[in-house]
Amino acid sequence: MIYLDNAATTSMRREAYEKMLPYFIDYYQNPSGAYESAINTQNAMEESRENIASLIGATKDEIVFTSGGTEADNYAIKGCAMMHKDKGRHIITTKIEHHAVLNTCRFLEENGYEVTYLDVDEYGVVKLDRLKDAIRPDTVLISVMMANNEIGTIQPIEEIGNIAKKRGVLFHTDAVQACGHIPVNVKEQKISMLSASAHKFGGPKGIGFLYVADGVKIKPFIHGGSQEQERRAGTSNVPAIVAMGEAARLSGIEMKKHTEYVTKLREYAIMRIFREIPFVRLNGHRYKRLPGNMNFCFQFVDGVNIQVMLDMKGVCVSTGSACSTGSGKASHVLLAIGLNEELASNVIRMSISYTTTKKEIDETINYLKEIVYKQRQLSKEYIEITKPYRRYGWRR
Ligand code: PLP
Repeated sequence: MIYLDNAATTSMRREAYEKMLPYFIDYYQNPSGAYESAINTQNAMEESRENIASLIGATKDEIVFTSGGTEADNYAIKGCAMMHKDKGRHIITTKIEHHAVLNTCRFLEENGYEVTYLDVDEYGVVKLDRLKDAIRPDTVLISVMMANNEIGTIQPIEEIGNIAKKRGVLFHTDAVQACGHIPVNVKEQKISMLSASAHKFGGPKGIGFLYVADGVKIKPFIHGGSQEQERRAGTSNVPAIVAMGEAARLSGIEMKKHTEYVTKLREYAIMRIFREIPFVRLNGHRYKRLPGNMNFCFQFVDGVNIQVMLDMKGVCVSTGSACSTGSGKASHVLLAIGLNEELASNVIRMSISYTTTKKEIDETINYLKEIVYKQRQLSKEYIEITKPYRRYGWRR
């Protein structure tokens, strides 16, 4: 198998997997236990919190464990909306957010809040002047993702943080795709809240965290016991928390090395595809993008057909984000950057990691060339457009 869908989920780091194992059987105590043997699990959780905090430039007490990115997004947005409802009921976000943010905003709209969905430019970058214009006296939150899960575009987070701070509005960023892959510093970037998810950076699924800056007040989202300093109720998932901490620690140490390797491999793949396959478009920003993200339109070919045929060769890619697969709808992200429905259906996302090899990329592109070529022979539009070229023996 050639796995090029690391934006959907990553394989767990073996070190993280091994580190979590003793917490199932040897150290299974509930960390809320008042006896001495619970100290081991408490310490392990706090060590993990420390590792996560240092990955994003936060302090330990600003990290709240959640069941993943979706919960962290829900908690940040709903918690902030509830807390500040007397100040105002207006939220600003963008048209290209993950559904964990968009559908949370839609829920709030049904409950008396107003949401402004900002446009992005053709590369998927938020327009800062539009953001400034959208802020109102009753705005309680700006939520802009750090990096997009489909097209990989990285937003000008520090500029957004500065705008939010100057105007006295809280700033949440969904960093699920960014955390562990690109440098994050919540203090320098003036972030009030940040969501992340372990399974995107070599940790297990079903665990994540929300960073809440010291002094920022939001309402708890899950009610129950007093875990996580009364910020998130429910017995802590100690093994997963331990593994997430280890994955965070290793991601921090190896980030520079991995970014260099992955970016080089991505550029190699992009250049090969540009050179060897005609009528191709790279979606997202050419350089301000996640190291491992590639998102292409192969004009005249249905992305689903490419995906299925690559799958038959043992190559895993995606036609959009994992969450919209099967929905049959054109991606809201691709429409927001200006693609029409047809071009948006020609899309393949390949997300590579530090474990991807050049050989795997070469094999994939060789398959891709053949599949795209064959599929295009079935397209009347393609045949028509390339008629003049083919007269001179052009074979693509
Ligand atoms: N936000 C973004 C940008 C994502 O890519 C994802 C997952 O794909 C999520 C949120 C949801 O995270 P989780 O799978 O941990 O619930």
